[in-house]
Parts: sequence; C-alpha cells; structure tokens
Amino acid sequence: MNTVRIGETRLQPGKIVCVGRNFVAHIEELGNQRPDEMVVFCKPASAIGERLASRFEGETLHYEGEICLLIGERGVAGVGFGLDLTRRELQGRLKERGLPWERAKAFDGAALFSPFQPVNGLPDALSLELEINGEQRQQGGVESMLYPPESILEEIGRFMTLQPGDIIMTGTPAGVGEIQPGDRFIGRVFAGGEMLAKGRWIAES
Ligand code: ZN
Repeated sequence: MNTVRIGETRLQPGKIVCVGRNFVAHIEELGNQRPDEMVVFCKPASAIGERLASRFEGETLHYEGEICLLIGERGVAGVGFGLDLTRRELQGRLKERGLPWERAKAFDGAALFSPFQPVNGLPDALSLELEINGEQRQQGGVESMLYPPESILEEIGRFMTLQPGDIIMTGTPAGVGEIQPGDRFIGRVFAGGEMLAKGRWIAES
C-alpha cells in the first residue's frame, strides 16, 4: 500500500513535492494570479492510492494530470503520469482565508501514479496527455511550463533536500475538471514522440 512501481519493482516513496500554477493557460482557467515565485506544496506518501475516487467526504473531486519525476540516487530515475486529485471547493475556501491546502490536496487517495519508466537523468521534451472517455482533455509539455523540470529541481533544492524515492509533480496544463463516476481515464507521458508511461483508471462512485 502507498507504493509505486518503477520497471519491475515496487517502492515506497518519500515525500511528494508538487508545483502549482506552472502552466499559464491553467492559471487563467482558475482565475489565479501568475506567481512571481514557484508555488510549491507537498502531499504525504500516505496520499498515494491505487483507485480513482470521484468523491471525498461528499465533495466531488477534480483531476489534474501531471508529468511526474521519481528521484533516485543520482537525479531523476523515473518518469510517470500522475493525477493530483483536489477538493476544489474546499481549496477555494481555504485559499480565501489564507489557510494551508492540505485538507484539499493531501487526503488519502489524492495522488495516483502510473508505473514509472526507469530513466537515467531527465529526458528532453517531456509532455503529457490525458484522455477521459476517449476524448483528449489535457495536453501540455515542458515548453509551456513557467518552471520546466530543470528549474523545478533547482528551485526545490534551494530549500528542501530531495531524497531517493521522492516524487515531483510538475503541475497541470489547462483542462482540469470534475471526476464523474464511471469516467475512464488514460494518462500518458511522452519524451518527444516516444511514450514513456501510461496509467489507466476508472472512476468509482
Ligand atoms: Zn497539481
């Protein structure tokens, strides 16, 4: 439980470090301010789930598809597709009052990951796509990020030590939305034209 797969092995991740507001089109769709500093928050490893819930404590969850990096002994060791599940309504109330987001972002089952593809260092030209019920809902690559992966690693490293087993969620492109029971999710991450990782989930009620 609370593990991720890389190649043929399973490991228990450490912390999950997430970047918020990294794609301009997504900042605009939520009506957020463009940050003058990279927005960072964490999810605990206990948030990692296998199943895609559509609700939590009666609130409909929202999906955010993200390119995810698994840290190894020497830099990036794996690339995967992740879903950052969010209680958007609760997050809005917390943000309004200037309170932390953990209740809206760090609950059990709030982080889902495809198997990670082992890599030796950060691949170039990463991009993701998220399909729901056969229709493309999110698409975006590092070229549209305010903070591409190299900058994320550098910026996090200024104040937080990344350890083997940690995961970085690099932010979501435009197209986020509600999860409906029965929705079929397929998330993919590419490096150039080559598919590195793929995850599939069916939303539960
Ligand atoms: Zn996110």
